[in-house]
Amino acid sequence: MHKIDDQLAKVTARIHQAATAVGRNPQTVQLIAVSKTQPAQALAEAYAWGQRAFGENYLQEALDKQVQLASLAGIEWHFIGPIQSNKTRPIAEHFDWVHSVDRLKIAQRLHDQRPEALPPLNICVQVNIDDETTKSGVSLDELPALVAAIAPLKRLTLRGLMAIPAATNNTDQQRAAFARLHRALVQLNQHGYGLDCLSMGMSGDLEAAIAEGATFVRVGTDIFGARATPAAG
Ligand SMILES: *Cc1c(COP(=O)(O)O)cnc(C)c1O
Repeated sequence: MHKIDDQLAKVTARIHQAATAVGRNPQTVQLIAVSKTQPAQALAEAYAWGQRAFGENYLQEALDKQVQLASLAGIEWHFIGPIQSNKTRPIAEHFDWVHSVDRLKIAQRLHDQRPEALPPLNICVQVNIDDETTKSGVSLDELPALVAAIAPLKRLTLRGLMAIPAATNNTDQQRAAFARLHRALVQLNQHGYGLDCLSMGMSGDLEAAIAEGATFVRVGTDIFGARATPAAG
């Protein structure tokens, strides 16, 4: 077992290496530490190292950790898991970012429930980039209409696209999927949306994602180690 700060240093070095290899400024790639199933103490260790952005998939688990870590200034919470429509209010109230919006009903509720005292909620639309029947995410075909419907919602700031491609060790296939997401973002921006975020790349494929333009990589296992079976939530 490696300590979390050693692992964070390694992942950060990989991000730096992957960005410079393709001529990108490593500062343009932000690391989200995916802390689902990890205890609050693990997040506190990462925070002490300097990590600020954390990604959570399970609402109740995340809310519990937010209470435990309420004293940590500047911590940034990203919701990255599937969203049930009856769970949108606490997400709208307690997160800075949501990466997993894939239908208008959810966006509308997050908009309506975002407290006035908070800045607009940052949103990425999740795209089912490999058209897998089992996966969350809007299809590429339906993406333009969904983006057009979400963009006017004032209590949301539509920032970009997120995807979890089909798992593969083949680097060319990894890059092809990430390139499709990047092309979709470029096409949307031809309509003036000004999207500036591509949330793509995890422990096993962050290099390929960065090569294809990722601005957020979401890394769990390579920071915190293998996960136990997730709690329901
Ligand atoms: C769990 C998860 C990750 C992190 O995956 P690792 O392979 O552990 O790095 C990233 N994104 C989402 C949406 C996840 O659910």
